[in-house]
Amino acid sequence: MSPGEEKTSPIMCTTPEMEIYSATLKRRQIANVDEAIAQKDVESTAKDVYVPRIKWLDLSAQIFIHAGFLYGLYLVLTQAKLLTTLWVFITIYTSGFGITAGVHRLWSHKAYKAKWPLRLLLVLLFTITGQRDVYTWALDHRVHHKYSETDGDPHDVRRGFFFAHVGWLFTTPHPDVVAKRKAIDMSDLETDSIVMWQKRLYIPLFALLTIGLPVIVPYYYWSESLWISFWVNFNFRFCINLNIAFCVNSVAHLWGQKPYDKNISPVENFAVSIASLGEGYHNYHHVFPWDYKTSELGDYSFNLTTGFIDTFARIGWAYDRKYVSPEMIHRRAHRCGDGSHVWGYGDVDISEDDQTELDMMNNHEL
Ligand SMILES: [Zn+2]
Ligand SMILES: [Zn+2]
Repeated sequence: MSPGEEKTSPIMCTTPEMEIYSATLKRRQIANVDEAIAQKDVESTAKDVYVPRIKWLDLSAQIFIHAGFLYGLYLVLTQAKLLTTLWVFITIYTSGFGITAGVHRLWSHKAYKAKWPLRLLLVLLFTITGQRDVYTWALDHRVHHKYSETDGDPHDVRRGFFFAHVGWLFTTPHPDVVAKRKAIDMSDLETDSIVMWQKRLYIPLFALLTIGLPVIVPYYYWSESLWISFWVNFNFRFCINLNIAFCVNSVAHLWGQKPYDKNISPVENFAVSIASLGEGYHNYHHVFPWDYKTSELGDYSFNLTTGFIDTFARIGWAYDRKYVSPEMIHRRAHRCGDGSHVWGYGDVDISEDDQTELDMMNNHEL
């Protein structure tokens, strides 16, 4: 493809490269024709019968968390000690690395590898955030990437801001979501003893690390009352942490730019990136989910998680960091096609040319 063609081509999706890609895709579709027919049957049946129902226990939990946030905010403004409020934000942004570097970039996307001390640290930090166990979070996130904006997407943004933000957590899932959860390969996490340990002991770990640790520290070290510490350091903090993560599923799928693929809903949202330690470059991330930086630009100031991973790489606890070459970004940005629908490194639907280049880069052959 000549540079002139790229600039003047009225429909970027019809480049020769795209034709090769389409041919590969077509071969794959033919090979999977039985599966496709069966899938269509499941989808049409599901559409006929699916009526979402409210899961009252989960809705009650969300109401408690959000009402408790308001009371916690009142206490922050009127009675809580300054150190207690500072502790809230220290806890949010320290434990946040458990989400961004841990359950997201490491366990959902296999974007790098981590030795056991780092995996243990990340699992403990992630548990402080209280966002379910690593296995369940990563499973839903792989399904979200793989089947984004279809009935199989757990927080399908086509159903609106509120559903993608929080509604999906207290309504019964679409049958396609249930089917896709069963179809996703999770064998790598099933052999990770630290992940399975946290899954098995999630309830006591939640009590200890999501509630106990954040609440006890202000009580023990600067004599904050237990009542205030509970509402501020558990409830108020938990709610802020949750809503930052929710914004990646809602705001970062609705409002922003799409420099890498204009045909998908994820966007680049600067505000979400600042709040979420660098997770708002969501258009890039959906196109290249295996890149450990989750963004094209390497600036740590708005992507602290990349700095966190690089710091641990320096001492050897993080290694095999996957990334994307400028050529690959260029190719994909001009392809504007379906190649974004993969859950991370190792997915069978990564195109052959990208996978070959990726492996060569990571074997230091390029
Ligand atoms: Zn992701
Ligand atoms: Zn997304």
